[in-house]
This record gives sequence, structure tokens and C-alpha cells, in this order.
Amino acid sequence: MDELQHKLANIIPDGERLLMGDRITDQYRYDDYVTDTGEPIAVALPTSKEEVVALVKVAAEENLPVITYGAGTGLSGATAPLGGELIIDVHLMNRILDLDEETFTLTVEPGVLVGEIHEYVEKRGYFYPPDPGSKHSSIGGNVATNAGGMRAVKYGVTRDYVRELDVVLADGREMKVGSLNIKSSSGYDLKDLFIGSEGTLGITVQVKLRLLPLPKAKLSVIAAFHTLEDATDAVLTILRNGVDPTAMEFFEKEAIALSEKDNDLPFPSQEGDAYLLITLDGDSSASLEQRLQLLEDSVKEHHVVELLPLMDPAMEHTAWFLRDRLLTSVVNYTEQVTMDEVVPINHISTLYKYTKELEKQSGLKLISFGHAGDGNLHTCITRGDIQDQAEWEQKRDDVLGKLYQKISDLGGLPSAEHGIGLIKKPYFEKMTADLNIEMMRSIKAVFDPTGRLNPHKLF
Ligand SMILES: Cc1cc2nc3c(=O)[nH]c(=O)nc-3n(C[C@H](O)[C@H](O)[C@H](O)COP(=O)(O)OP(=O)(O)OC[C@H]3O[C@@H](n4cnc5c(N)ncnc54)[C@H](O)[C@@H]3O)c2cc1C
Repeated sequence: MDELQHKLANIIPDGERLLMGDRITDQYRYDDYVTDTGEPIAVALPTSKEEVVALVKVAAEENLPVITYGAGTGLSGATAPLGGELIIDVHLMNRILDLDEETFTLTVEPGVLVGEIHEYVEKRGYFYPPDPGSKHSSIGGNVATNAGGMRAVKYGVTRDYVRELDVVLADGREMKVGSLNIKSSSGYDLKDLFIGSEGTLGITVQVKLRLLPLPKAKLSVIAAFHTLEDATDAVLTILRNGVDPTAMEFFEKEAIALSEKDNDLPFPSQEGDAYLLITLDGDSSASLEQRLQLLEDSVKEHHVVELLPLMDPAMEHTAWFLRDRLLTSVVNYTEQVTMDEVVPINHISTLYKYTKELEKQSGLKLISFGHAGDGNLHTCITRGDIQDQAEWEQKRDDVLGKLYQKISDLGGLPSAEHGIGLIKKPYFEKMTADLNIEMMRSIKAVFDPTGRLNPHKLF
């Protein structure tokens, strides 16, 4: 047994929780977008923060880079090894520790899945709003990517629900950031630096989440349109008229058709060629009825073909299930690159129209869906039946370059949800002012002077 293995086995004596050599499985080598980047040296699966601290201290002694791994659902290559890393997979740290009903706070370990959090709190009359499509992603990963999801238009993103974090720094010191106080004017907000930092500043070992009371009434509605332009144009009217949607997803018919086929289920509306799938929530059915009327008035201005309230819970479940599975269905359909760009809300229609121009220019199929209420599109550049690898790569990269340029021109950002990781680094650096990148590098150097944590990711 070599010295490193000996040191790691002293911390994690259970062989099932320490993988080295041939025992390291492929899930740790790549994600959906990044393959064959390098070989990690070991994968350790701690079950306590004490084990995380001890592992990080060994990594410091042995000068090993460290990658933190949650549920591995990330889509940006942020957990992909480049060679020689110790991967710390925290998914076994998966206990819900406390529900404090006096401060409306839930304390969890980082490996708890966001879907489990929803189920746990809703049974007890509480609500955790962030709702990424990947219900099987971990809360530690959600914090590290500042995950968004369907309900961001009304309730915001993960950042808005993190009260306090316990983090392990690159040298093994433990740090608490944030607090249970609702307000703070007490110095820099260090907690906010960790949220969205993609495992480059510290390892989250405990999270305190803010909860809301569970809304008493909820209704989902499908608005079908002839074109996606009509649907995206309607978004601003809906927001301006005070409909106050909890979620407002948009997709083309051909996108949801992939999900219908993949899951062998029909979407509840077969009218039109584009849809908004909207949820309203509130304290009473009277408030929903009033806002449903406002919604009807709003979409009429944009040539709505059908407005279908989903009164039947099974039908509502089908509509949202197909929406949640959309990305997976596109991935199953063909080789593709899915973006998670965001533009100011008034430019969503402009950006969508530009994707159609690029489709004509390039001959590639560009499929669009996303969170219309907050300007976050998922544009999928699909390979379709292009046989020649070089032709596909050249066309894909050309479309990506043009799209990111347009996003930048519109004042948008390269990632609203999935993070930068490895794959968006060139675009992130191009779209961010040099001084801003320099300041981010300086912050990284303060927390992690030897550059041990998730090196070469982000910038
Ligand atoms: C089908 C599908 C749908 C998706 N839909 C959405 C969506 O609607 N909205 C959205 O925001 N995202 C979405 N995603 C992306 C993905 O689920 C998120 O990025 C998620 O937050 C990652 O969580 P994870 O536990 O899988 O993290 P991982 O993939 O394991 O890691 C992601 C990043 O977080 C870091 N990390 C993980 N755990 C910790 C920790 N404890 N401490 C420090 N750093 C850590 C990793 O180092 C890495 O940088 C989707 C993904 C899929 C596959």
C-alpha cells in the first residue's frame, strides 16, 4: 500500500468508500459534456465533516488538487478531472438535520437531494422554492452553481434561500458564513461568495436553508400560440399586467414532441406550435381566478390559440413531467450542446429570433426552451444527421461563437444556471471585463492560495 493510500485509508477505512486505480468508476471521469480529460488519483466518499476536514488536510500535505462532487448532474464539466485529483464525493452526507419552525430554517448536509427537500418540507406545510429540473441534484451542488429552475420568476434562486453555510477551506479550516438573521449590514457577505463558486473556494459541509409557508392554492395553465415569437412576446405583457406567475416555461412544439416520444405520453395541448406552461400560486382560489382572468387578457393580445387550465392533477403532473424531462429527451435524441444563457427580460424574443436566423445560416437544428419569466433560455444546438465529425464541430463552434456574441451584445450572460465549469470558460472570459476576472482571481487566491480547489474551472 503506498503512502497516500495508507493516509486516505486511515480516514476512510471502509473500502467501499475509497476508490483508487481500476476501482474508480466512469461517473467520476466525465459528465454529459466533457469526456476523457484526465485520471483522478482517488475518490473518497466521506460521511461526516470531520472526514472531509481530514481528507482536505491530506490533500494539502500531498499537494493534490481537490474536486468536490455532489450528485454529478452538472452540465458544464465542473466536476471533470484534469489528472491527479482527489475527488471528494459528499453524496453520503445526506441527512436532514433539523427543521427550526421558529426561524423557518432547515438544516441539511450537502448530499441531500433537492427533490427530497421539497418532499420533506411540503409534508410539514413549508415551501422551498428553488426548483431545478434535476430534482436528483444535491443541495451542495445547487449552492455551488446557484441553481435556479422553474420558480425563479417569482421566488428567486438558491442564493435567496441560503441563510448559512459551513464550509471547509483549502487548508482544512472550518468556516461558518452567513447567519440566521434576516438582515445584515455587517461587513462583506462572505456567504454570497461561496454561492455559485463551483467548488473553487471551499467545500460546503452543512447548509441552513430559508423556508416559506406552503402556498394554499396552485393552478397550472397551458397557453398555446402559433409561433414562439407570439409566446415570448406575451411574456412581457403577462409580467406587466401583474399576473405574477410562479413559473413560466416556454418551448416549441417540436421540443416537447421529443419529450412526448421519449416518455410515451401526450402533452395536454396539441394546439399551436409553441407553448407557455404557467403556474399560479396564492393564498386562495379567488386570488388565482382573478389572476387567471388577467392571464387570459394578456395572452389574447398575442393571438393565443388555446388557454387550457390544468384542473385535473394527473394532467398537470403530465405537463410538468414532460417539461422536466425535456433536456434529457433532447440529449437522448441526438448529440447536442445545450446552453443556459440569460438576457435581460426585454430581449428574450430578440435572442430567440436570432437563433432562427442562425438555424437558416448554418443548416443545423436549434431547439429552444427555457424559463421565459426570467430571460433564461436553453438553446440546444443539435447535430441531427450530419455524419462528418469535422463539419459538425466547425458548424457547432461557429454557431456557439455567434450566439455568445449576440448574448453579450444584448447585455446577457453565458450561464444563468449550470455554471461555467470547463466548457464555458472561453466565452465567460470573453464576455467579462478583464478587471472583473482579475478581482475574481484575487478572491480565489485569498481563500485558496495554492489553487487546490477545483483548479482550472471557471477562469
Ligand atoms: C436534466 C437536467 C436538468 C437540469 N435542470 C436545471 C435547472 O432547471 N436549473 C439549474 O439551475 N440547473 C439545472 N441542471 C444542472 C444541475 O442539476 C445543477 O448544476 C446542479 O445544481 C448540480 O448539482 P449536483 O449535486 O449534481 O452537483 P455536481 O454536478 O456534482 O457539481 C456541480 C458543481 O458543484 C460543485 N459542488 C458540488 N457539491 C459541492 C459542495 N458540497 N461544496 C462545494 N462545491 C460543490 C462541484 O465541484 C461542481 O463545481 C440540470 C441538469 C440536468 C441533468
